[in-house]
Amino acid sequence: MRDIGFHKEITTGHYLNPFDGFAPKDIPIEERYDETTGVASRILPYRVRPAQKPDTNAYLEKSPESICPFCPGLFDKITPKFTPDIITEGKFKRGEAYLFPNAFPYDATNTVAIFSSRHFIGLDQLTPEAMRGGFAVCRDYFYRIAELQKGYQYCSINWNYMPPSGGGLIHPHLQTLVSKKPTNFMRQLLASAQNYEAAAGGGNLWRNILVMEQEAGERFIATTGVISWLTAFSPKGMAGEIDFYFKEKTSFFDLTEANFDELLQGLSRVFLHLYVNNFMSFNLSLYATMTPEKNFWIQGKIVPRFEINPLGTSDLNYFEKLHNEIICPVVPEQLCKELQPYFMTP
Ligand SMILES: [Zn+2]
Repeated sequence: MRDIGFHKEITTGHYLNPFDGFAPKDIPIEERYDETTGVASRILPYRVRPAQKPDTNAYLEKSPESICPFCPGLFDKITPKFTPDIITEGKFKRGEAYLFPNAFPYDATNTVAIFSSRHFIGLDQLTPEAMRGGFAVCRDYFYRIAELQKGYQYCSINWNYMPPSGGGLIHPHLQTLVSKKPTNFMRQLLASAQNYEAAAGGGNLWRNILVMEQEAGERFIATTGVISWLTAFSPKGMAGEIDFYFKEKTSFFDLTEANFDELLQGLSRVFLHLYVNNFMSFNLSLYATMTPEKNFWIQGKIVPRFEINPLGTSDLNYFEKLHNEIICPVVPEQLCKELQPYFMTP
């Protein structure tokens, strides 16, 4: 099997430690680089985690239901509708879930989906049932877009959950993107897989990553059927990264309802782990092509986000923003071990 392109190198920091009578101290710093994703990170051996449960009430006080555009009082009045050529009712609906155009779009086709009329859903309450309708309306929308044959080839379902991750509203909501060209990161994934296949001794990059990771047993959390869950070798966030791959699924429209249920089950397990470990926020993306593309298996990433107390310091700093390297005081192999029990219960 051709090498996947995971690189690591140890560098050591030295200082005289004020907490140990100024005795010399060495600190190993692991520099990692993943050729597939292009992500460079520094894995630090000291675990940093939020010490106590974040106070979500402070957010709820600043952003109550009465001023929320997604709560029933304002929803019909101030959320955009689609033009009738897309859907005559103006919005996609499944039970209490709705999908509608983003009033502040990032793209020609950026939409927002809400799960229900519930203003706040805690991380421990993000059950498959609570999320099902929200993901279903995204699916309905992608089917409709494909039916309209406008040449869109790439799609994603995205989530900023709570303000530390960039979420502008408490009311949980997804965002979808469909586009004719891939986003920068999706282009990188696709190019990596194409180059891997074209190289001598190559093959399908995603298949080989999963085989290699399952054999290595260091970052492979579990397989739940069609989906494999892993922690990323070189994470995109300070609290690590959890990845999921839909095996052999090469178009969004390959996904069945059962596959979605499996995804939501797995997500709720990851979210419960975050909740237990005092996190309150994450970014999530599910990336897919809208036509079969053998070099792009449907996959996604979850990056936990947090504020560093007591100042509410951001978990994103100059190293990530301006040097494109992520400082990560969470060892991916350790995070994997912590997540495994959450995937063992039925
Ligand atoms: Zn609301």
